[in-house]
Amino acid sequence: VIQINDLHKAYGALEVLKGVSLNAPKGNVISLIGSSGSGKSTLLRCCNLLEDSQQGDILFKGEPVTWKGSHHGRRPSDPKQVLRIRTNLSMVFQQFNLWSHMTILQNVMEAPLTVLGRDRAEVEQAARGYLDKVGIGDKCDVYPAQLSGGQQQRAAIARGLCMEPEALLFDEPTSALDPELEQEVVRVIKDLATEGRTMLIVTHDMKLAADVSDHVIFLHQGLIEEQGPPDRLFGAPTSERLRGFLSATH
Ligand code: ATP
Ligand code: MG
Repeated sequence: VIQINDLHKAYGALEVLKGVSLNAPKGNVISLIGSSGSGKSTLLRCCNLLEDSQQGDILFKGEPVTWKGSHHGRRPSDPKQVLRIRTNLSMVFQQFNLWSHMTILQNVMEAPLTVLGRDRAEVEQAARGYLDKVGIGDKCDVYPAQLSGGQQQRAAIARGLCMEPEALLFDEPTSALDPELEQEVVRVIKDLATEGRTMLIVTHDMKLAADVSDHVIFLHQGLIEEQGPPDRLFGAPTSERLRGFLSATH
């Protein structure tokens, strides 16, 4: 679904991605791990074009996202294409970013109605279905502030699903949560993995990465230091840096 070739991204003089390639085929779960500042969030944000980049290619479903050349950074040339890619890659953030003045149901319905212009009755039925699926079907009519962090994050996941995206992008979905609440969210992510959803997950939770991933990528200072299937990567890491990173996180 998403393929990235040799992506370079800098903020001014700061090179954050120094040539990163990845391939997320349909139905695969890829986890991105690495220390703070290694470029994980930046890579995710490049995928759905929240950030531009200086060099390299991004392909969405095999189709190159075309860029207007400029050494100040490039943007996809067609705004419709940007919108299509963004709506097809739902992003779930560490801070759930729900609208505080809307009920949970309204939060989930908002983007399909306004961005995709879908039929209200259909969207409502789908939204209720996704809220049921993440286990908070009884919370449709309350406001985000009335929910626990774990429930808010599950609402954010339902909101992402309601766009019926090709893939889900998670940026530290459990980092803001207490350990008990974290498990509710982990369970939902595991269910989605079992369903064969395509997902890119940035996480500090090595257990989550080990449990759900088909492939794990360890980023270090803007480069892929090591990657592989989770059993191999966690069971027999070869790079000294990855070994250091893993022993520091346990
Ligand atoms: P963390 O685990 O702390 O979330 P990360 O791996 O997600 O880290 P990024 O957020 O991708 O790291 O940041 C990589 C580097 O880019 C950091 O040095 C950060 O300070 C820098 N950076 C990120 N966003 C910007 C920005 N908008 N402007 C300038 N520098 C930025
Ligand atoms: Mg980050």
